[in-house]
Amino acid sequence: MARKKKAPEAEPPVAGTLIDNVDGLTPDGKGGIEHFTGFLITPDGHIGQVYHSGDKRPQRVDYKLDGQGRVVVPGMIDAHGHVMPTGFAKMTLDLSATRSLDEALSRIAAWTAAHPDAPWILGTGWNQMLWGLGRMPTAAELDAVTGGKPAWLTRVDGHAGWANSAALEAAGITAATPDPAGGEILRVTGGRKPAGVFIDAATALVGDKVPKPRPEDRDTALGEAQLAFLAQGVTAIADMGTSIEDWQAFRRAADLGHLRIRIVAYAAGIDNMRLIGGPGPTPWLYQDRLKMNGLKLFLDGALGSRGAWLKQPYADDAKTTGLPQMNRTQLGNLMSRAAIDNFQVAVHAIGDKANATVLDAIDELSETYKGDRRWRIEHAQIVDPADIARFGEHGVIASMQPQHEASDRLMAEARLGPDRLAGAYAWKSLAAAGATLAFGSDTPVEPALPFEGIAVAITRQGDDGQPFLGWQPQEILSREAAINAYTTGAAYAMFAEDKLGRIAKGYDADFLFVDADPMLATPEQIRKTKVLETWIGGQRAWAAQDENAKEEKPSEAP
Ligand SMILES: [Zn+2]
Repeated sequence: MARKKKAPEAEPPVAGTLIDNVDGLTPDGKGGIEHFTGFLITPDGHIGQVYHSGDKRPQRVDYKLDGQGRVVVPGMIDAHGHVMPTGFAKMTLDLSATRSLDEALSRIAAWTAAHPDAPWILGTGWNQMLWGLGRMPTAAELDAVTGGKPAWLTRVDGHAGWANSAALEAAGITAATPDPAGGEILRVTGGRKPAGVFIDAATALVGDKVPKPRPEDRDTALGEAQLAFLAQGVTAIADMGTSIEDWQAFRRAADLGHLRIRIVAYAAGIDNMRLIGGPGPTPWLYQDRLKMNGLKLFLDGALGSRGAWLKQPYADDAKTTGLPQMNRTQLGNLMSRAAIDNFQVAVHAIGDKANATVLDAIDELSETYKGDRRWRIEHAQIVDPADIARFGEHGVIASMQPQHEASDRLMAEARLGPDRLAGAYAWKSLAAAGATLAFGSDTPVEPALPFEGIAVAITRQGDDGQPFLGWQPQEILSREAAINAYTTGAAYAMFAEDKLGRIAKGYDADFLFVDADPMLATPEQIRKTKVLETWIGGQRAWAAQDENAKEEKPSEAP
């Protein structure tokens, strides 16, 4: 009997998915970028192997996908965003595109007419700087278009809110209401009557009276936010300021298998920290989809509403140096309260005084809290050049948002004057001093567009190509550094550098097919990068073609 000839190529079959014939690039783990042409995904959603041209591929795999030469990059990680507000911004009145007060008022009037059942008129995104108004808007202006219903509209940076008279009445705010610590109620000129706009800590006076969203509204908002992130290639995000209600919404989604992106939570204040984490940070939950790392604190406000805490008075308002939300001792106590239970601490600091104060606190706390703490400074927008080197001490993370530089540069010039810009959005200097750069968007303050962020980081220009050679061009970053800040840097900042941010053996298989190679394309092409597919944990979580198919599907006859 003839023996059956055994096939010489009969290797044992390899479980998993081989994605081959791609133009792949990934951080190499040493600050550079390396290329590859194929990779294997294990059945449990990790990278099993990475192949370069000439490497032998497994002969038999469960599934094989021809990448057709398309560009593959790791999933982008947004190091600082606000998940639920991103979703709610899509469900309420969005004023971010308005370019004049009149345009905003007509949008508000239209929204009010279209939502007769809404108990409050809620919205976000306004920016009086873009309106060329030269002042804040007023309650009286809002009254004219809101028909007696309370209205509360938060400014684009989340650090100011605009109320109408009905909202003031509902919140019980009168001329006798004092400014709270760390906040300001703008008053009508020459009097005490509230003018309608509330800054920083004062926003809670009205914001706390707004009806709380129902759990099902939160679930809808999370779905909206996830869609926005997936479509832009964001596969993981640090949620800065998670409330217990937000956390419960994340868990409800995850329990049902609906949590597709990865969320790392930083609790909004000590109470939420205790409610969410209890005795310490949570482990990774739901196959690395959700984790609670630490605490988010606010030390100051934002530049736009002159809440950022500066060492010297504002160039365009000599009466103020900003609105610190607490003093140095209070900050140290809160940071200590978190660090003692091994929670990571992330402090919002925009002005140079705020940044110096956090650095002082880190200096002092590092004596007590040894080990790998990864103290995070969120925004680090305006840093006194004398303080830049201090970011290199104690392993401080500079969590920055390139899109803010492009949007804010003219305002920063107005607020600071020409002589205090050397440490403004100084990401290259901070990295050179030894800080780890972690880039994000601050969504919904800026849309979560990581490729736009990379374009700004490597040009210091806005989408209009201005200014010609870039703003403070000495801070232009290399492509390698910019890509790393949205991947490995952001992963490191959330203690996930061993599983997220690279396409490398053992990492979670989070990656994108995109239509431009960020190492070769022009900055304009990078800015307009289209995400074709978003994969998370080895599964295709989103594809542009599915979206197109949905849009093209003819609507059914009634
Ligand atoms: Zn933020």
